[in-house]
Amino acid sequence: MSVVKFRTIFRGSNPRGTPYVEEAIFSCREAKRRGLAPGTSGNVSVRTPRGFLISVANTALGTIKRNEFVEVVGLERTPLELVVYVYGKQEPSSETPLHWAIYQARPDVGAILHLHDDFVRSVPAYFLDIPFTWTQQQSGTWALVQEVLFLLRQHPNAQYFILQGHGVVSTGKTAEAAIKQAVKIHRKANRYKRQEKK
Ligand SMILES: [Zn+2]
Repeated sequence: MSVVKFRTIFRGSNPRGTPYVEEAIFSCREAKRRGLAPGTSGNVSVRTPRGFLISVANTALGTIKRNEFVEVVGLERTPLELVVYVYGKQEPSSETPLHWAIYQARPDVGAILHLHDDFVRSVPAYFLDIPFTWTQQQSGTWALVQEVLFLLRQHPNAQYFILQGHGVVSTGKTAEAAIKQAVKIHRKANRYKRQEKK
C-alpha cells in the first residue's frame, strides 16, 4: 500500500465520462487475467474532456467497479505541497501526479496503465528495446514525475517504459491499446526467459 503524497480537493461528487470507464474496466480485467496486476498494485486512467478518470487509491484492478474511478481535473504545485482537484468521493490513485504529467506532456496519449510487471523488469532492457528511467524514485513522488518527464524528453514517442525498481507504464490512444501493448511486451519477456532456460 503506498502513501498518498498530495492533498485532494473535491470540487464535486460526480465524475463525468462513464463511457470511457467501461473500456478501462475491461482492460483492468485483462491485466489481472494475464497476471499483470497482482494484489492492489497498478492503476489505470483514461482522458476525458476536462481531465482524466483514474482508479481510486488501493483498489484491485482485476475486480474494479464503475464507482471506483474519480475524475482529476487539475493539479497545482506550490513550494509546500501538491494539490489535486477531483470530482468524485474517494482519493485518487497515489500515482495521480504521474498520470497528470504524462497527459500534459503527451497530447496523443488517451489512456495510461501502470503495472507492477516484475516479469518484464527481470529481463534485460536491451532485449526488449524499451526505455527505462535512470534512477529509482519512490512511488507517488514528484521526483518520480520528473524522472518520467526526463525520459519522455529523451524518447518523445515512447508508448511503453520501465520505472526503475518499480514497474512499467503502458500508454495508448485507448485503454485497450495500452493493455494490448503491455501484454505483447510481457510475452516478449516470456520468450527471453524460455530461451534463457535452454
Ligand atoms: Zn506502482
